[in-house]
Amino acid sequence: TFELLPSDFYGFENLLTEQEKTALTNLRAYLESDVRPIVNGCWERAEFPAEVIRPLAALGAYSFSWPETRPFENSAVFRGFVALETARVDASVATFVGVQNGLACGTISATGSQEQRDEWLPRLASGEIVGAFGLTEPLSGSDAAQGLRTTATRTGDTWLLNGAKRWIGNATFSDITIIWAKDTADGMVKGFIVTTDTPGYTATRIEGKISLRSVQNADIVLENVVVPEKNRLQNANSFKDTAKVLRLTRAEVAWSAVGTSIGAYEAAVAYAKERTQFGKEIGGHQLVQDLLVKSLGNITASLGMVVRVSQMLDEGSQRDEHAALAKLYTTARMRETVAWCRELFGGNGIVLDYDVARFFADAEAVYSYEGTREMNTLIVGRSITGQAAFV
Ligand code: FAD
Repeated sequence: TFELLPSDFYGFENLLTEQEKTALTNLRAYLESDVRPIVNGCWERAEFPAEVIRPLAALGAYSFSWPETRPFENSAVFRGFVALETARVDASVATFVGVQNGLACGTISATGSQEQRDEWLPRLASGEIVGAFGLTEPLSGSDAAQGLRTTATRTGDTWLLNGAKRWIGNATFSDITIIWAKDTADGMVKGFIVTTDTPGYTATRIEGKISLRSVQNADIVLENVVVPEKNRLQNANSFKDTAKVLRLTRAEVAWSAVGTSIGAYEAAVAYAKERTQFGKEIGGHQLVQDLLVKSLGNITASLGMVVRVSQMLDEGSQRDEHAALAKLYTTARMRETVAWCRELFGGNGIVLDYDVARFFADAEAVYSYEGTREMNTLIVGRSITGQAAFV
């Protein structure tokens, strides 16, 4: 039976249907029994737990959004809670899902032809293959549109891709990577489904990360990579189409940030009831209660925001600036929350055993990816003033 999370203080989960609650209960049970016990070890060893890919697929994690694959009709709020539940246990696993589901399937769903959707979505949704999304480059991150240097040159029915990508999640083991490149004929940004065994494609793991250590990020080099025209995303005609995908994934990242905050908060509540100092549980000290209450306030405000942004998606009124404000706001609140929760643990807050250290470290990457706070601020600023400060 479904139980409201105590950290869902205002009961937003009551908005879900019975079918959605059952799916979420099953996901939650799997994450607790099979994922939570292994994630600290994976983080320390900087390994991704590949054994979670198929079970998460069976629970619907990469299929709920797409008409071609979804097990039942569902709401954007429900899909947000799927991201939240995953991040509540581990931000790296949530990032894997975000890439596989949001960025890989999301791009193919939003910009592929029906034929391309039919070819790739079922295979990605079932976890048979893993997808990655290559937009960022060594020399362009925030200015991904203007600064994009990877090129695509058409000859007959094939394209030749040349360039480099950086930070690409899941790309050390992905079967396909979506590569965004500028058409040398018309200068427009186009998207290509590149199978990673194509000659000239190499992916090298980025080492030494202090955040999201389990996520496998890669530097990719493309040297005369040949892609057939049938693998060019047929409805990706300019960066505006890429931005459509990013709007949806930013809203999902905003949900994941709430999940990461909740993961840290739940660890802190448990510790506050278990650790004693000055002859009583530390949760009985006023200043410790203040840390918990401020954290719950951040979580509750953020949850209200992401729920509404998802409802706007279903209503057809969600715009780029709505997702951008949610992403920048909830990740900033997450960064405060994980720091307060870590503080509550004293010294034990910096060792992996208590979970909170992992949430604390992982929050940093989530704060910066899918558009930094500054870039999302400029998207909202443009909508308020009508002036684009970043072009
Ligand atoms: P830069 O763009 O170099 O920015 C550096 C700083 O300058 C930032 O603080 C930024 O806000 C600021 N800045 C830049 N321009 C302005 C401006 N006009 N005004 C004010 N401030 C400005 N990318 C992918 O394509 N696919 C992935 O799967 C992927 N996964 C990632 C996973 C992780 C763990 C990380 C860390 C990154 C990932 N990225 C991925 C890349 C990510 O989206 C970029 O890191 C992010 O967009 C920021 O780009 P940058 O790192 O190049 O920073």
